[in-house]
Amino acid sequence: MRGVPVSARRSAYADQARAAVAEAEQIAARAAARAGAEWRPGLENATAARLVRELNGRAMFGLPTCGHLPASPGVGWWVAWSPELMRCGRCARDVLVATRGTSEDNRCDGCGRLVGLIHPAILQGGAVVITLGLCSDCEADR
Ligand SMILES: [Zn+2]
Ligand SMILES: [Zn+2]
Repeated sequence: MRGVPVSARRSAYADQARAAVAEAEQIAARAAARAGAEWRPGLENATAARLVRELNGRAMFGLPTCGHLPASPGVGWWVAWSPELMRCGRCARDVLVATRGTSEDNRCDGCGRLVGLIHPAILQGGAVVITLGLCSDCEADR
């Protein structure tokens, strides 16, 4: 049989996956800096950790995508207040823009309350950039 041996294909896939993780990390850091949000590479926040577990649970059953994500490993975006889709960067931005200025903009992704002040946060979990907004109580939940 011709073609690339399976082991070589696997390692190319692993390289791609590693590159996607590194890219997600950079995107998260840049996006956080632009938004004035705190970038948390770790999960020292209990609410954020719960949201990431929720994402992992959904992803396990195959989260539908916006249709623009490449088939090979690439960076996906998960928006905590619109969790039904894994999105490309552009679609994630569209959700952010659509929410801005609405009452939903002030809803905490941790407890669901409407509050006066939301702390935006951007996390990176594997090759996924995760955006969320937390109230002060959930923000302090360590
Ligand atoms: Zn998209
Ligand atoms: Zn909250």
